[in-house]
Amino acid sequence: MNNERPVATPSRTKEILQKYGFSFKKSLGQNFLIDVNTLKKILNFAGIDKESNAIEIGPGMGALTEQLAIHANKVVAFEIDGRLVPILKETLGSYDNVEIIHQDILKADIRQVIATQFDTTTPIKVVANLPYYITTPILMKLLMDRLPVASFTVMIQKEVAERMAANPNTKSYGSLSIAVQYYTQAKVVMTVPKTVFMPQPNVDSSVLHLELRDKPPVDVKNEEFFFEFVQGCFAQRRKTLRNNLARFLGEKMNKEEIEAVLIESGIDGTRRGESLAMEEFAVLANRFYSSN
Ligand code: SAM
Repeated sequence: MNNERPVATPSRTKEILQKYGFSFKKSLGQNFLIDVNTLKKILNFAGIDKESNAIEIGPGMGALTEQLAIHANKVVAFEIDGRLVPILKETLGSYDNVEIIHQDILKADIRQVIATQFDTTTPIKVVANLPYYITTPILMKLLMDRLPVASFTVMIQKEVAERMAANPNTKSYGSLSIAVQYYTQAKVVMTVPKTVFMPQPNVDSSVLHLELRDKPPVDVKNEEFFFEFVQGCFAQRRKTLRNNLARFLGEKMNKEEIEAVLIESGIDGTRRGESLAMEEFAVLANRFYSSN
């Protein structure tokens, strides 16, 4: 155990910045956490204990990684910025349960890393303060790859967290809500003030908890078509389902054919996409997939 102050304190973070002459790269979404209480709450929501392994994306200087090292069985963290590697060697030097992988998470073979770094019996939890410029691509890649992980607990832009966890008939509900909730049960568990970051981001932040489902809540005939179909239904939010479908399927079906499928499915074409539950999207997508 390290005797120094935690990395996640303003004074220690400033010291490290100075010692290494480190300058933040906005283009890499570098907003570091400087509040241990916020980190402890994140670990709590993630259910981190010595019976869990953790994957972190973007350890930065090690603020969250250090807390994970203390409280989890083992931590593997992917960091794209090579300037942070020597810093992490210093801040995490006294923990023997941390592995830093200098790699872009979007290019990493995470499945292979999991197979070599972790034992198969301990659940793996993804915990991260994500770089905001690529939050959605990172989460969608990890979900679509169907990695053997139990949950994600991630700090992201507040508005994106709300969209991912949104219910029908709300302003935030859209194709991203369906995509995320197809794989997980999603909940916004905490909002976080800008003051806990250095430098402070321009946007508000929330912690999103995603619990992986054993299987999707709906049966779809073709996943790719299902996700494209849902996007098609939300393409113009203010328009009716009927109009959005005419645009989406225009080359393959005429208006009468589309109307016939809507009637068969028992779904009123004058509704808007935002009023449809995932089950209704699945019924419709399956019928349209069979008819075109
Ligand atoms: N975990 C640290 C903390 O909470 O203080 C830093 C979080 S900071 C919001 C995001 C981190 O992700 C930065 O360290 C950044 O360099 C890293 N990062 C950005 N893009 C990445 C990518 N594609 N793959 C891996 N890490 C990335």
